[in-house]
Amino acid sequence: EELVRDPSGLWDFGDERPRPGVRSIVAELPEGVTYEAGNHLAVYAKNDPELVAWATHCLRLPAGQVVRLSQEGERATHLPLGVPVPVELLLTEFVELQEVATRSDLETLASFTECPWTRGELARIDYAEDVLAKRVSVLALLERFPSIALPLEAFLEMCGPIRPRFYSISSSPLAGPRRVRITVGLVDGPAWSGTGRYRGMCSAYLAGLEPGDAFYGYVRVPSPPFHLPADPATPLVLIGPGTGFAPLRGFLEERSLLPDAGPAKVFYGCRHPEHDWLYRDETWDADVRVAFSALPGHPHRYVQEALLADAEGVRDLVERGAYVYVCGDGVRMAPAVRRALVEICGEEGVRRLDAEGRYQQDVFGG
Ligand code: FAD
Repeated sequence: EELVRDPSGLWDFGDERPRPGVRSIVAELPEGVTYEAGNHLAVYAKNDPELVAWATHCLRLPAGQVVRLSQEGERATHLPLGVPVPVELLLTEFVELQEVATRSDLETLASFTECPWTRGELARIDYAEDVLAKRVSVLALLERFPSIALPLEAFLEMCGPIRPRFYSISSSPLAGPRRVRITVGLVDGPAWSGTGRYRGMCSAYLAGLEPGDAFYGYVRVPSPPFHLPADPATPLVLIGPGTGFAPLRGFLEERSLLPDAGPAKVFYGCRHPEHDWLYRDETWDADVRVAFSALPGHPHRYVQEALLADAEGVRDLVERGAYVYVCGDGVRMAPAVRRALVEICGEEGVRRLDAEGRYQQDVFGG
């Protein structure tokens, strides 16, 4: 589906305070496409022109080259076959350029150099430590070992198709059925390989869009389910630090537009209230508890601590039938929150929440 970045320009956080590294983006859905709060928006990004220029440089391709791809056999492919295609277009819209090189990529690279020193260096690489842990790509290896003359077709065989990235929708269709908001944390920092910067493909792409630009994607219903209970009077416990707040904002917006909404408790966390508190100026009818990991003297560093400090209030809501939603980092935060809930409600209480579909998680990354 073609989505359009909302032409009204309504995107960042609606106030002047900068939130370095995070963008709140509103897009307009095509007619006929619907969504529910808690759904995901899948986005197909394009590679950044600078990255594409680096790729053509590492592959020593002349500017403006047009190629016609063919393949032996009937294998399915994501590449356009049998038609003339500019190389820049292939590298921009068809393949992932920053994926980690595989062990077999290292062998292929070794077969495209005559240089004994390079072959020796490639053979000495400790894959887990030198490539996987540092997320070194084929392009980075080509830059490091200039004697490798990798033909374009061999490079394309190594690259996977562009994967869609998922973003938790941060709005409710009740506020506008064709407008979806997403909250995007930018992946941008010194590359773990030790050379240059690493910019996440999709987050950089979304951050670079201008109002009115179109992009491609679709609405996905999460599985296992992540949606509000049918009865708006049901109490809610919402736990989502950082960009984990994304879908919770959608739930709060939805509840604010429904009559007779039940009580909600929100547990939000970030580093510092002045720096990265997302949607800080929005007020919802909810009991909001915050944790700040870089504010000396603040009583809670992480959401699980704020949760434990309000154990009685949380237990009360759970006993009154609350649904519990946890969103964000699935590696450290979500397990820590679960342990806190076990302390608050007991093993049996949390098992009951699970069994009744009242413990819903939308977790990602690490
Ligand atoms: P990519 O190009 O995919 O790069 C990310 C990869 O690079 C990771 O493997 C990471 O480990 C690695 N990496 C990170 N830094 C470096 C570095 N310095 N050097 C080398 N490698 C590095 N994200 C949000 O922001 N908001 C959301 O609401 C949201 N919801 C999600 C919901 C679900 C269900 C899922 C699965 C994910 C969600 N995400 C969300 C994550 C999102 O889908 C993307 O993974 C994220 O935006 C990064 O994508 P990217 O294309 O920018 O980065």
